[in-house]
Amino acid sequence: MTTAEKVAYLKGLTEGLGIDPEQKEGKILTTILDILEDLAIDQEDLAADIAELDEGLDAVSDDLEDVETVLFGDEEEDDEDDIEDWDGETAFYECQCPACGETVTFDEDVLAKGSIQCPACGETLEFELGEDAEKE
Ligand SMILES: [Zn+2]
Repeated sequence: MTTAEKVAYLKGLTEGLGIDPEQKEGKILTTILDILEDLAIDQEDLAADIAELDEGLDAVSDDLEDVETVLFGDEEEDDEDDIEDWDGETAFYECQCPACGETVTFDEDVLAKGSIQCPACGETLEFELGEDAEKE
Protein backbone atom coordinates (compact mmCIF):
# COMPACT_ATOMS: atom_id res chain seq x y z
CA MET A 1 0.00 0.00 0.00
CA THR A 2 1.42 3.35 -0.98
CA THR A 3 1.18 6.36 1.29
CA ALA A 4 -1.41 7.91 -1.03
CA GLU A 5 -3.51 4.75 -0.80
CA LYS A 6 -3.26 4.73 2.99
CA VAL A 7 -4.40 8.34 3.14
CA ALA A 8 -7.30 7.59 0.79
CA TYR A 9 -8.25 4.66 3.00
CA LEU A 10 -8.13 6.89 6.10
CA LYS A 11 -10.28 9.49 4.36
CA GLY A 12 -12.88 6.87 3.48
CA LEU A 13 -12.77 5.60 7.04
CA THR A 14 -13.34 9.11 8.40
CA GLU A 15 -16.35 9.58 6.16
CA GLY A 16 -17.63 6.11 6.99
CA LEU A 17 -17.47 6.87 10.71
CA GLY A 18 -19.72 9.86 10.07
CA ILE A 19 -17.23 12.43 11.30
CA ASP A 20 -18.77 15.80 10.51
CA PRO A 21 -16.33 18.11 8.68
CA GLU A 22 -18.30 21.09 9.95
CA GLN A 23 -17.62 20.22 13.59
CA LYS A 24 -14.43 21.51 15.27
CA GLU A 25 -12.67 18.14 15.51
CA GLY A 26 -13.99 17.02 12.14
CA LYS A 27 -12.64 20.18 10.52
CA ILE A 28 -9.17 19.61 11.96
CA LEU A 29 -9.22 15.96 10.97
CA THR A 30 -10.25 16.60 7.36
CA THR A 31 -7.69 19.42 7.07
CA ILE A 32 -4.97 17.09 8.36
CA LEU A 33 -6.07 14.44 5.87
CA ASP A 34 -5.97 16.98 3.03
CA ILE A 35 -2.41 17.93 4.01
CA LEU A 36 -1.43 14.25 4.19
CA GLU A 37 -2.93 13.70 0.77
CA ASP A 38 -0.88 16.59 -0.69
CA LEU A 39 2.26 15.29 0.97
CA ALA A 40 1.67 11.81 -0.41
CA ILE A 41 1.23 13.23 -3.92
CA ASP A 42 4.37 15.37 -3.55
CA GLN A 43 6.29 12.34 -2.35
CA GLU A 44 5.18 10.28 -5.35
CA ASP A 45 6.21 13.10 -7.69
CA LEU A 46 9.61 13.30 -6.00
CA ALA A 47 10.10 9.55 -6.24
CA ALA A 48 9.31 9.72 -9.96
CA ASP A 49 11.75 12.63 -10.39
CA ILE A 50 14.48 10.72 -8.57
CA ALA A 51 13.90 7.65 -10.72
CA GLU A 52 14.23 9.85 -13.80
CA LEU A 53 17.43 11.45 -12.48
CA ASP A 54 18.78 8.03 -11.65
CA GLU A 55 18.18 6.90 -15.22
CA GLY A 56 19.89 10.02 -16.55
CA LEU A 57 22.83 9.48 -14.26
CA ASP A 58 23.17 5.89 -15.46
CA ALA A 59 23.27 7.10 -19.06
CA VAL A 60 25.94 9.70 -18.22
CA SER A 61 27.92 7.09 -16.31
CA ASP A 62 27.80 4.70 -19.27
CA ASP A 63 28.93 7.46 -21.63
CA LEU A 64 31.77 8.36 -19.28
CA GLU A 65 32.87 4.74 -19.27
CA ASP A 66 33.03 4.84 -23.09
CA VAL A 67 35.15 7.99 -22.90
CA GLU A 68 37.47 6.35 -20.38
CA THR A 69 37.82 3.32 -22.63
CA VAL A 70 38.80 5.57 -25.55
CA LEU A 71 41.27 7.53 -23.42
CA PHE A 72 42.82 4.82 -21.32
CA GLY A 73 41.98 1.53 -23.01
CA ASP A 74 40.26 -1.46 -21.46
CA GLU A 75 41.13 -1.28 -17.77
CA GLU A 76 44.41 -3.11 -18.02
CA GLU A 77 46.55 -1.44 -15.41
CA ASP A 78 48.80 -4.41 -14.96
CA ASP A 79 52.46 -4.31 -15.98
CA GLU A 80 54.63 -1.34 -15.12
CA ASP A 81 55.86 -1.12 -18.70
CA ASP A 82 52.45 -1.41 -20.24
CA ILE A 83 52.39 1.67 -22.42
CA GLU A 84 49.23 2.44 -24.33
CA ASP A 85 48.92 4.66 -27.33
CA TRP A 86 46.01 6.98 -27.85
CA ASP A 87 44.96 7.92 -31.38
CA GLY A 88 44.83 11.66 -31.01
CA GLU A 89 46.77 14.82 -31.78
CA THR A 90 48.93 14.32 -28.75
CA ALA A 91 49.55 10.79 -27.62
CA PHE A 92 49.08 10.05 -23.95
CA TYR A 93 50.43 7.03 -22.19
CA GLU A 94 50.08 5.56 -18.79
CA CYS A 95 52.06 3.19 -16.70
CA GLN A 96 51.97 1.95 -13.17
CA CYS A 97 54.60 3.01 -10.66
CA PRO A 98 56.41 -0.16 -9.49
CA ALA A 99 57.12 1.44 -6.12
CA CYS A 100 53.68 2.63 -5.02
CA GLY A 101 51.25 1.34 -7.67
CA GLU A 102 50.11 4.83 -8.70
CA THR A 103 48.94 5.08 -12.32
CA VAL A 104 51.04 7.76 -13.97
CA THR A 105 49.80 9.48 -17.12
CA PHE A 106 52.25 11.29 -19.40
CA ASP A 107 52.56 12.50 -22.99
CA GLU A 108 55.02 11.76 -25.77
CA ASP A 109 57.45 14.52 -24.76
CA VAL A 110 57.99 12.77 -21.47
CA LEU A 111 58.18 9.44 -23.28
CA ALA A 112 60.96 10.85 -25.49
CA LYS A 113 62.96 11.72 -22.39
CA GLY A 114 62.70 8.11 -21.28
CA SER A 115 61.84 8.72 -17.66
CA ILE A 116 59.41 10.47 -15.35
CA GLN A 117 59.15 11.01 -11.63
CA CYS A 118 56.17 9.38 -9.96
CA PRO A 119 53.96 12.24 -8.70
CA ALA A 120 52.89 10.14 -5.76
CA CYS A 121 56.16 8.82 -4.33
CA GLY A 122 58.93 10.58 -6.31
CA GLU A 123 60.35 7.33 -7.68
CA THR A 124 62.01 7.75 -11.08
CA LEU A 125 60.26 5.59 -13.66
CA GLU A 126 62.15 4.64 -16.79
CA PHE A 127 60.54 3.15 -19.84
CA GLU A 128 61.65 1.51 -23.01
CA LEU A 129 60.04 2.65 -26.20
CA GLY A 130 57.69 0.09 -27.66
CA GLU A 131 57.37 -0.45 -31.39
CA ASP A 132 54.50 1.88 -32.15
CA ALA A 133 55.79 4.57 -29.86
CA GLU A 134 59.07 4.70 -31.75
CA LYS A 135 57.81 6.16 -35.01
CA GLU A 136 58.09 9.95 -34.93
ZN1 LIG B 1 55.17 5.89 -7.12
